[in-house]
Amino acid sequence: MNTTPQFPRIALIGLGLIGSSIAHGVRQLGLAGELVATDASAEVRARATELKLGDRIAVSNADAVQDADLVIASVPVGVCADVAQEIAPHLKPGAIVSDVGSVKGSVLRAMAPHLPDTVHFIPAHPVAGTENSGPDAGFAELFINRWCILTPPEGTDPAAVDKLATFWRTLGANVEVMTADHHDLVLAVTSHLPHLIAYTIVGTADELEDVTRSEVLKFSAGGFRDFTRIAASDPTMWRDVFLTNKDAVLEMLGAFQEDLSKLTRAIRRGDGDALFEHFTRTRAIRRGIVSLGQETASPDFGRPHGPLPKANDKP
Ligand code: NAP
Repeated sequence: MNTTPQFPRIALIGLGLIGSSIAHGVRQLGLAGELVATDASAEVRARATELKLGDRIAVSNADAVQDADLVIASVPVGVCADVAQEIAPHLKPGAIVSDVGSVKGSVLRAMAPHLPDTVHFIPAHPVAGTENSGPDAGFAELFINRWCILTPPEGTDPAAVDKLATFWRTLGANVEVMTADHHDLVLAVTSHLPHLIAYTIVGTADELEDVTRSEVLKFSAGGFRDFTRIAASDPTMWRDVFLTNKDAVLEMLGAFQEDLSKLTRAIRRGDGDALFEHFTRTRAIRRGIVSLGQETASPDFGRPHGPLPKANDKP
């Protein structure tokens, strides 16, 4: 364990998959002098006590953030505004306030107006996950070799951004900084659209009358199985993603529909060259992803449980 904490006190709000994973990492690496954790659900708080997700489990968000130097809200995007409003009067001047939401523009617009000027507000998105939710789903290694995107508003103190970047790097993530709007556009195509397609195709297969459910399960290795894993992702989280990143998702969906129409036309016309050319191009993209080291057993899921690097190891 690291003996020099990065923050005297860290407060974690929301102890589902992401919050509990951060808690495990912080505890294993000794990144906080004191770790205070909380969740809206009494059941989750009780489980968090059993799992020792904090040195102290606070009963409210307001109580948790008292005197904290770093506050991270790991809650559904749709409740970020409520959380900001609730904690604002209790924040310590100079504290860094962050989140982990999968959409950044709406989080920025929802939280910023409630927060005092005396804190550094730096939204963040660790691009890491599994299809599981809740306090038992978390593990310290979730963020290793994954990207964490920081989207500080214009004028944010660079020293605070560096501090948060160091925190995420210590948890194993690679850090990139960009604007919230750019993040939302990039993630619309790399994450949000693929999830929408998975949700659609699994629903479509379920409704087919002349293919029985047992056949769908039996032959699922033919590509369907990977979609089912993505389509098992948390319904609350993904509802909020599509409600809050509407414009970017609709823009990408428009481009996708055009490409789908081109492939549909090629199939209808028996245009093998067009299909071959398209599949050759996409194969090259896949090989590029593998060479960038972003491949695991399946996209964004099934993280290997390798050991967490030591806090004082160079990232
Ligand atoms: P999760 O497992 O469902 O956990 C969220 C937790 O927050 C739940 O325990 C929930 O309690 C609690 N909560 C809800 N409202 C709250 C409030 N007002 N105050 C305090 N706690 C509250 O969700 P998650 O997967 O960790 O996702 C959390 C955030 O991470 C989301 O914004 C999501 O977009 C983002 N994210 C998720 C992934 C992923 O793959 N899962 C990846 C990257 C980023 P209840 O159960 O009682 O509602």
